[in-house]
Amino acid sequence: MPDITLGIIGSGQLGSLLCQAAKKLNIKTVIISDDEQGPAQNYTDQFIFAKYEDKDKVKEFIRKVDIVTYEFENIPIEILKSINKERKVLPKPDINQKVQNRKLEKTFLNKIGISTTEWTFIKSAEDIKKNKKLLPGILKTNTLGYDGHGQFVLNSLDDIKKDWCFTADYILEKKVNLSKEISVIITRFRNGESFIYEPIENIHKEQILKYSKIPADITNEIFKKAQANAKLIAEKLDYVGTMCVEFFIDQNNTLLVNEIAPRVHNSGHLTINAFNISQFENHVRAVCDLKNDKVQKISNAEMINILGKEIEEYRNKSYSDLEFFFDYRKKVIKNKRKMGHITILKK
Ligand code: ADP
Ligand code: MG
Repeated sequence: MPDITLGIIGSGQLGSLLCQAAKKLNIKTVIISDDEQGPAQNYTDQFIFAKYEDKDKVKEFIRKVDIVTYEFENIPIEILKSINKERKVLPKPDINQKVQNRKLEKTFLNKIGISTTEWTFIKSAEDIKKNKKLLPGILKTNTLGYDGHGQFVLNSLDDIKKDWCFTADYILEKKVNLSKEISVIITRFRNGESFIYEPIENIHKEQILKYSKIPADITNEIFKKAQANAKLIAEKLDYVGTMCVEFFIDQNNTLLVNEIAPRVHNSGHLTINAFNISQFENHVRAVCDLKNDKVQKISNAEMINILGKEIEEYRNKSYSDLEFFFDYRKKVIKNKRKMGHITILKK
């Protein structure tokens, strides 16, 4: 039995699911989070509520753990770097720095020969006018985006709002005429071995993931290319842990990388029930340097995200042996907030 305590930064549903995977492997967990109500406190062995700038609390966290990982990417880089001086942080902080910044992320992808949407860096309304060819497009804040936050659709120059003062940096991306969205989840181990889950097909509504399924309805060529892209990205980043690559497939069947999530991912929730080893367990195995055990698929599956008030109906349902309902136990129901999910195995 390993005698390891894993530190996790962040206390949302991804943290909860990581704690449950760690428990299965007999690994203790300590969470530090600035969200006093973070649901993962229901699953972790110890919970430290603190602002990440609180040096004493961060020291206490460091003292209690052997290794550190994180469940979300928008963590100030200085904090990850300072923790990394005392305890190994995986994935490495410089990966997080690159991937949480859309400009650095896309520059890296294009440099290693991976196609993305056409894009440019934007600091002012003038910059948008100079890049009219990217319209209709989507203006995205360069950092701190998630679930469509910080995104603005620009169909024409008229959509630039007069009161925008461009206090943040942005990128402008050409809007892709989507045929499909898929994601590939890969876990890379410290010895350089990796396991790549099969591509997952995803449907977003209002920029939030609503539905995922395996198998993805894609050609064999796209299947292989998406996995090869994910492997190349993980290798070039010298990544350790579970990572997700989100892809667009356009009307010409061209595969484009949308973005990289340097963490376990919502589209991979179905791996909990559809595989013997989930993305969460594989992440814990990789960062804690446990064995890369053989991953086997149990079943095809689909997953539905439960948003906002929808959770009330699901809490009152009964479920068959093939249906797995996860309630994130969030205290407050908010419109569009991810409150739970259900995975349905398809025999
Ligand atoms: P987030 O960081 O919030 O996940 P994404 O860049 O992944 O942001 O965008 C969320 C969703 O919005 C995508 O999964 C896709 O459905 C839609 N979207 C984003 N960018 C584009 C684009 N350039 N063309 C078409 N759809 C897009
Ligand atoms: Mg995304």
